[in-house]
Amino acid sequence: MSTILVTGGAGFIGSHLCDALVKQGNYVICVDNLFTGSKENITHLLNNPLFEFVEHDIINPFFADKKIDQIYNLACPASPIHYQFNAIRTIKANTLGVINMLGLAKKHKARILQASTSEVYGDPLVHPQVETYFGNVNSFGPRSCYDEGKRVAESLFFEYNKEHNVDIRIARIFNTYGPKMSKNDGRVVSNFIVQALENKEVTVYGAGSQTRSFCFVSDLVAGLVALMNSDVSVPVNLGNPEEYTVLDFAKKIIALSGASSKIVFNTLPKDDPCKRKPDISRAQQMLAWNPAVSVDEGLKQTIAYFKTITNSKS
Ligand code: NAD
Ligand code: UDP
Repeated sequence: MSTILVTGGAGFIGSHLCDALVKQGNYVICVDNLFTGSKENITHLLNNPLFEFVEHDIINPFFADKKIDQIYNLACPASPIHYQFNAIRTIKANTLGVINMLGLAKKHKARILQASTSEVYGDPLVHPQVETYFGNVNSFGPRSCYDEGKRVAESLFFEYNKEHNVDIRIARIFNTYGPKMSKNDGRVVSNFIVQALENKEVTVYGAGSQTRSFCFVSDLVAGLVALMNSDVSVPVNLGNPEEYTVLDFAKKIIALSGASSKIVFNTLPKDDPCKRKPDISRAQQMLAWNPAVSVDEGLKQTIAYFKTITNSKS
């Protein structure tokens, strides 16, 4: 049994990861400041003797009273509206917070995995994106707190590995969706499903010609665990290469929801990447990992989840 710290463990991906790690028989310490996460996501784990929740902001140092074997560092808001809400806090989570977690890993001789992102590629000029592409990121725009924050986090990981021999893993996560996404998260999957289920207008930003590639959360969690338990210390893309224009994706969700929603076209946010699709050859070769859930199947499960949640869930 390993003792595993999951920061951001009450969030969307983090709560699924906690479930998987507890199920494997590990002792899981979930650290979260509940900014975008929610105790509802982990209620079912709170009485489990293999699970512990600590409300804590990783911007402040964290001291563990148990020997930590592995750290998954997911603590950072992921939706543009949330990471832009307090951009300086987002930068702090990705700098001070990451330094705190790397310091903890160094002290405990723990292996640490960073939840990096496809956003390190910015508005990519290489398509699909390979890990060797350095990206096209605006350091001075509304997304930079997140994009540059995640880039400096990768640099910190690299330097802690080089200077202090910390055992690092870096997952570059592409758009991930599934049950437990928060209803008011503001990201495309939850927005479109909630709008469709209420037969409201579905809000496509711009002309909807920008593309994204969508990975179901169980696949992503399997990829994170495989990466953590591999000997791969270079960045690895994790995502599902099934690529859609946002307009086609809106039509698909309306159809799968059986909705009568109309599509409306709103202003495209500044610096919204034009296209995004992972090249997952590295994950396939080094981790023998492949996404198994098709977008149609994953959306059906996600729509079913959103049908069950009450209006009180945010
Ligand atoms: P989320 O917003 O649901 O989860 C983030 C969690 O971190 C929340 O529970 C939040 O309360 C917590 N948190 C935020 N700042 C914190 C801090 N300073 N200290 C402690 N806890 C803090 O988002 P998610 O989709 O689950 O994303 C999880 C991680 O994966 C993030 O690091 C995100 O950048 C990364 N990621 C996600 C996606 C995606 O499509 N979901 C894509 C790329 C990368
Ligand atoms: N988007 C949209 N309507 C929405 C929410 C998002 O058209 O209601 C678009 C957004 O402009 C972007 C894509 O969907 O092009 C994915 O947005 P999201 O916020 O989910 O994540 P991103 O990949 O941009 O970080």
